Amino acid sequence: MQESLEFPFARAHTAEHAFVGALQNLAGQTLSVVKVEHREKNNTAFIKTVLKMDLELILQAQENVNQLIKTGRSVMSYTFSSLDEAKKQFPSLRANEERIIGPQQVTVIEIENHDLAACARDHVTNLTECDFFLVTGVSNSGNITEIDFSVGLQAREVATRALQKLLNICNATGANINSVENTVKKIKNQNDKLLGDLKNYSRKSLDSLQPYTVDSNKATLFYGIFNDLIDSEILAFADKRIANSNAIVIIANALNDDGNNNPVSEPTATIVVAANESLKAIDCNKIVKEIAGRGGGKSHFATGLIKKDEMADIVSTIIALVKKKL
Ligand SMILES: [Zn+2]
Repeated sequence: MQESLEFPFARAHTAEHAFVGALQNLAGQTLSVVKVEHREKNNTAFIKTVLKMDLELILQAQENVNQLIKTGRSVMSYTFSSLDEAKKQFPSLRANEERIIGPQQVTVIEIENHDLAACARDHVTNLTECDFFLVTGVSNSGNITEIDFSVGLQAREVATRALQKLLNICNATGANINSVENTVKKIKNQNDKLLGDLKNYSRKSLDSLQPYTVDSNKATLFYGIFNDLIDSEILAFADKRIANSNAIVIIANALNDDGNNNPVSEPTATIVVAANESLKAIDCNKIVKEIAGRGGGKSHFATGLIKKDEMADIVSTIIALVKKKL
């Protein structure tokens, strides 16, 4: 199949007409396509979002386009002196009206018994030339739904790569291609539950820290050394505690894996040093930079990365330094 010389993306572009036509039929209304981008490796259609445009509808439209490609539909063009003239003939015409201003010649592209759109680009003459249509991504931004798609050989390559990834997921989860969706949902639910439990455990562990008063109320210190707490809970705890005047928080938390179930080559820990803003003598950023080496932040709140086997020494050193500065 030879691409049009004038417009090398004629196949992808014509498939876009067929796809938006299929979406319109399913959504039961004329859609507004704000922009279509065609690139060497993929394409994106920017469509004004309608309420019914969920993934199920988009995938159904994809299936309908492939059916139209398989059965073959002629693609015809008509020229009118203006958009109004075109609309007299085709009242349900899709047109990006913001781009067609004033009286100017308008070309209408019809996909036989399927879609009508005003468009000045080049198109193939029959949908069979599109070969194969694949939606490769859907995202929403404001009131625009961005749909990535591929056509023909490009789509076959994407499908091959996607299937390889799916088989790798089956391999990693012990599922087969029919059960993988349910297996992944189950893993996600289990993970959410465990993460919730770990967050609760982290909160309880941190809340059990007893305040340590430094030199007749000059400061109240909360310090501790932990394993595997959720870091976001440590940050929230530190934030909450240092809202109280004279409060200082020093917490080290060992990370026992890198999140991929592989033991990290050199076990590390995070360190959080935070102080109420009234304690001007305590510069947390400077302390973390000098003692931990890796990390930093603001003068009243800083985080760093340290070696796990140095956690206790580093926390002791920071406590000693803080006491000296008060
Ligand atoms: Zn077009």
